[in-house]
Amino acid sequence: MALRFKNSLTRRVEEFHPIESGSVRMYTCGPTVYNFAHIGNFRAYMFEDLLRRYLKYKGYRVTQVMNLTDIDDKIIRESNARGVTTKEFTKPYVDAFFADMDTLGIERAEYYPAATDHIPEMVAIVKELEKRGHVYQVNGNYYFKIASFPDYGKLANLDMQGLKPGARIAADEYEKDSVSDFALWKAWDEADGIAFWETEIGKGRPGWHLECSAMSMKYLGKRFDIHTGGVDNMFPHHENEIAQSEGATGEKFVNVWLHCEHLIVEGKKMSKSLGNFYTLRDIIERGYPGLAVRYLLIATHYRQQLNFTFDGLDGARAALDRYNDFIDNVKLYPGGSSDGSAQTVIDKAKAGFEENLDDDLNISGALGIVFDLIRDINKLKAEERLSVAERDAVLELMSRFDTVLGFQKKAVGLDAEIEAMIQKRQEARKAKDFALSDKIRNDLLTQGVVLEDTPQGVKWKRKV
Ligand code: AMP
Ligand code: ZN
Repeated sequence: MALRFKNSLTRRVEEFHPIESGSVRMYTCGPTVYNFAHIGNFRAYMFEDLLRRYLKYKGYRVTQVMNLTDIDDKIIRESNARGVTTKEFTKPYVDAFFADMDTLGIERAEYYPAATDHIPEMVAIVKELEKRGHVYQVNGNYYFKIASFPDYGKLANLDMQGLKPGARIAADEYEKDSVSDFALWKAWDEADGIAFWETEIGKGRPGWHLECSAMSMKYLGKRFDIHTGGVDNMFPHHENEIAQSEGATGEKFVNVWLHCEHLIVEGKKMSKSLGNFYTLRDIIERGYPGLAVRYLLIATHYRQQLNFTFDGLDGARAALDRYNDFIDNVKLYPGGSSDGSAQTVIDKAKAGFEENLDDDLNISGALGIVFDLIRDINKLKAEERLSVAERDAVLELMSRFDTVLGFQKKAVGLDAEIEAMIQKRQEARKAKDFALSDKIRNDLLTQGVVLEDTPQGVKWKRKV
């Protein structure tokens, strides 16, 4: 069966066919780098990692773009309060973001463009929209006139009947009951301090939504295959992206929209504003390896809410250990004789894994298949019905699965390698490069090595 996705735009499950055969172009809304990302944010990035990895497993070339939002209302407020530029304010959070992505084993996208490096591209879109009659100005602010774009509301399935013409909103984020014309460009005012650009459309700064239209089309072309994000991005952000992009090009923007449901805590979305969040760092501090968090975040289907609990995380850690113990034990198995059963188990597992993931990334089904394989092979092993060649075929299949799952622990390094990494961390700390020192600490933790800073220096031990 072909790969199928539930497209948020059509609300139907559709077979996936990229625009250019054999390669996929996708865009992913990235972090607003004004703080450490919480694990709710990482649920969205983990889903996108699964998507990317499975597309590659299927043999597609993938070009993925993830933007870094380094300018918005919050960032301007915080940098001005600290008397630094927005770049200075966001830099440590950008570094921390990449360190966390590594801890979680999330593959790097091909491009990570930052909004503030793409102001001319954004200005060009505003000018094009203006030419095509989608824009009006009020005191140097440029608004998108949604009444000029008949398709507005298609993605979020909005009822546009009761719309008040001319109602407009300048804020970057707002709820569905404020459907209205939105700001593309905001003229400078005192509260912006030094955060502004002198451009052909005046002195000011972009609204949040514009950056994703500018950067996606710059790196992927006017029309591309897949656009992803969390469900909260669907309105207003993605609705506005469609209006801006299609309004400026007159062409269809994106074929498939995929939205990941929220990570919730006691029934509420994990979010900075509710204060009910954990950063990845909070969880690593409690002694959980990054890969256990990876397991937890990936294991629930992306269109279902995931309720975060520490019991759930313990369960994820246990499953991860089972997965890795299995690989370690199969490696050590000297091999018995074959009665042909192992090949049947292997073929069934491969087909089952792919059938599930082809079905709109049914990861829980795919993981069920992996654990069935583990159970069946363990049984054959115990009965010495697994030959050396079959053992190697099992290991090869697990490696192939792991290109999608990313659960396999890296081999624990030799003592000398660990000591060298600790030395590197000490040097990073001396140079006050805390992002790097954190990354090294987390990398070691991922490999089962725990560091302890004592008055006598750094001690380390392997976790049992
Ligand atoms: P933000 O930094 O708020 O722009 O969010 C970055 C990404 O994380 C977006 O794709 C959001 O939809 C997503 N996101 C934020 N909170 C959650 C959550 N609790 N669960 C899943 N995704 C989330
Ligand atoms: Zn976006």
